Amino acid sequence: MYSELSQRVNELIPYLTRQRRDLHKYAESGWLEFRTATLVAEELHRLGYTLKLGRDVIKAEARMGLPSEQVLKEQEQRAIEQGALPQWIAHFSGGFTGIMAVLETGRPGPVMGFRVDMDALDLNEQLDGEHRPFREGFASCNVGMMHACGHDGHTTIGLGLAQVLMAMRDQLCGTIKLLFQPAEEGTRGGKSMAESGIVDDVDYFTAIHIGIGVPVGHLVCGNDTFMATTKMDVTYRGVASHAGGKPEEGRNALLAAAQATLGLHAIPRHSGGISRVNVGVLQAGTGRNVIASHAIMKVETRGATNQVNEFIYQQALQVIHGAAAMHGVEVDVTLMGAAQSSKPSQEWVTYIHRQAEGIAELTHIVDRQEGAAGSEDATYLMERVKAHGGLASYAIFGTELSAGHHNEKFDFDESVIPVAVKTLAALALNIKTFKA
Ligand SMILES: [Zn+2]
Repeated sequence: MYSELSQRVNELIPYLTRQRRDLHKYAESGWLEFRTATLVAEELHRLGYTLKLGRDVIKAEARMGLPSEQVLKEQEQRAIEQGALPQWIAHFSGGFTGIMAVLETGRPGPVMGFRVDMDALDLNEQLDGEHRPFREGFASCNVGMMHACGHDGHTTIGLGLAQVLMAMRDQLCGTIKLLFQPAEEGTRGGKSMAESGIVDDVDYFTAIHIGIGVPVGHLVCGNDTFMATTKMDVTYRGVASHAGGKPEEGRNALLAAAQATLGLHAIPRHSGGISRVNVGVLQAGTGRNVIASHAIMKVETRGATNQVNEFIYQQALQVIHGAAAMHGVEVDVTLMGAAQSSKPSQEWVTYIHRQAEGIAELTHIVDRQEGAAGSEDATYLMERVKAHGGLASYAIFGTELSAGHHNEKFDFDESVIPVAVKTLAALALNIKTFKA
């Protein structure tokens, strides 16, 4: 099986490279993956998968951090101009850029779910000769959007997996579900996919990432370091007045935000595990001689467990509202993103480990690794699968990076793509050997 699989995937390498570079060039950030989603849908449809699209895989009310309606419209138009396929676009219109491809083998067996993400970051790519994507002509042509986290690679891995599983479907059993998730950055899309119910029947679930400091040839089968997180936008509204003539008539939104910022960073640590709080953006005021009537803050909390994050988040809300009361201003808090912490299921981690041992390119395979990563909203999908009695894990495939994640010079060694395809395909092809 391994040699047939390896050969088939190796034959796909030119296709995979082409796909990855096309996705990289037409980078689309969260909820705006219109071109990407239509091309992915077309590929999966062409291969013979049954598709569930848009609102069938995304629960509208559970979406977080959605761009404005105007941005959604403009970016859909931009995508069409860049080759988004008109026959699919209606499914994704309005920020419903999620896809699930289903393969029913017709033979009894478990339901296996695989999840990749498709979104880019709000970032300008480095456009100079030292940066390979620019040098080789596939740097992002979309201003302010860049694949600087490798999700172009993830989408490509999903497509490669779709190809090889369909080609080897005679050797599969049960049901395969391939999830292509929007808006992972800012942890905005995972919850809406989980709440659509599409993974409720999944027995074995695997999500992946490439890079994150893991070297080439290494695989972490069950990353357990993702922190639970909550992202929020805070808006203070006060009253403007003459700073010299009538300061007492003003209600100072700037001071409320400044007070909140200091208060947020003074939230106590938690004995239950590591925690984080950050005010990343604070903007306020209109002029030197005006009491500031408006302020916005972009805030996030994190915690090693859902409980620790919840503690920090509740404290943060108290600080934010307390600062508003102190300065007599109004405050709105909008939830912009969230992720859970999730422990991988050890039995599934062990199975991934065993399968990975058959992949020649993987030289160093571990169950877990130390060191806090960021956060990941695939954790919502993992938790949902586990809540329904399934097993779940999160694997990280090592690759060499040209710069850190979320950096404008980010690029990765594309040889990780076929390695990940082979490993994930092996999970499905050998599932009969799995005993929980
Ligand atoms: Zn990422």
